[in-house]
Amino acid sequence: TEACLAAIERAGALNAFVHKTPDAARAMARAADARIKAGDAAPLTGIPLGIKDVFCVKGVPSQAASRILEGFRPEYESTVTQNLWNAGAVMLGKLNQDEFAMGSANESSCYGPAVNPWKVDDRPLTPGGSSGGSAAAVAADLCLAATGTDTGGSIRQPAAFTGIVGLKPTYGRVSRWGVIAYASSLDQAGPMTKTVRDAAIMLGAMASVDPQDSTSADVAVPDYEAGLSGDIRGKRIGIPREYRVEGMPPEIDALWREGAEMLRDAGAEIVDISLPHTKYALPAYYVIAPAEASSNLARYDGVRYGRRAKLGQGDGITEMYEKTRAEGFGHEVQRRVMIGTYVLSAGFYDAYYNRARKVRALIKRDFDMAFADGIDAILAPTTPSAAFGLGAMDSGDPVRMYLNDVFTVTLNLAGLPGIAVPVGQDKQGLPLGLQLFGRPFEEGDLLNHALVLE
Ligand code: GLN
Repeated sequence: TEACLAAIERAGALNAFVHKTPDAARAMARAADARIKAGDAAPLTGIPLGIKDVFCVKGVPSQAASRILEGFRPEYESTVTQNLWNAGAVMLGKLNQDEFAMGSANESSCYGPAVNPWKVDDRPLTPGGSSGGSAAAVAADLCLAATGTDTGGSIRQPAAFTGIVGLKPTYGRVSRWGVIAYASSLDQAGPMTKTVRDAAIMLGAMASVDPQDSTSADVAVPDYEAGLSGDIRGKRIGIPREYRVEGMPPEIDALWREGAEMLRDAGAEIVDISLPHTKYALPAYYVIAPAEASSNLARYDGVRYGRRAKLGQGDGITEMYEKTRAEGFGHEVQRRVMIGTYVLSAGFYDAYYNRARKVRALIKRDFDMAFADGIDAILAPTTPSAAFGLGAMDSGDPVRMYLNDVFTVTLNLAGLPGIAVPVGQDKQGLPLGLQLFGRPFEEGDLLNHALVLE
């Protein structure tokens, strides 16, 4: 814990931690010591972690990197963080992210962007988003592991950009209670770690059946670490042809082949498969996610949470809503609220939102059919490129940023588990990753496959 606290101080330029809790960390580390001496240690006892800002931690600023939540200190603890503390983990502080987890470059944060510890010629690169602070902190050894959330790739893409492991669990595996909502039918919390084994340990601690989350699945949480064998003999791995997109750099294609070879060498069978509705995933995602976000974000009205704008003479309640939301939300969040309310409006609901829901069902069916055909896991690149330069997404062309999510959003639409593993490097030496998709609630199997790629 002391080594991490010192490293965090030295690494201020990464802007990974947005709120540090050294006093709590030391108190928790002392309690962990006592637990270890008493012979009562759990796998995470005394392990210092960073927590994405989107998780509510009692008494600690939890703003999802938004100005509108300035001054908000939750009165309650998210189930995920409570589970981690129960396992003996130590809290180092809150980690940077995109505002309300909307973004792929950590550039929409009210704290400014987090910076990738990997560099090319001193050019600052994005750690990805939205869990950019989590990825930067783990990659730079500021903490032993971190929590992230993945609505459309926000665990896996930053993991790929920083050379770490990121696991997005099955929807319902990890409780959403106390996690500030972005798009509730897609959001899922998961671990960001240095190794696959660490991901197994973290997931075991984070996951639980939670009556406080109505979508929490009543499925027992296995001992993921005990289940790690790396034995994938006889497994069938699908290579989805639709993920070979136009303009994909040849080095990503080469890495993908290399990953398939590694799995084959470990005794798996490699099978070409088709997930025909993949090309509709991105547009469907960018209808459904903003729709749900516009509804979730309606609660930030200047009354119930955080910040209220200064009002002028004669301002009424409407002006209070307008001014508070205009100055409290950043541009990307405002854009999504506008898109969301538009696609949900009476005149356009059928044309956009309902259509997107149908597409979502077809995407899920593609996966169901592949698994019904005996496929055990699906291998694909995590991102269409290595980490890009900071500021590149400020181009005023949001669609370009959305395109970066082309390989990640399908999994959230289908509710399936996935894991991003660092596998190689591009010609500049930056990390590149592959991801594996698995059957619902078979995270253990997924971790075993990932062990082979590590
Ligand atoms: N980049 C995607 C978005 O902006 C995904 C974000 C996420 O998974 N939270 O919506």
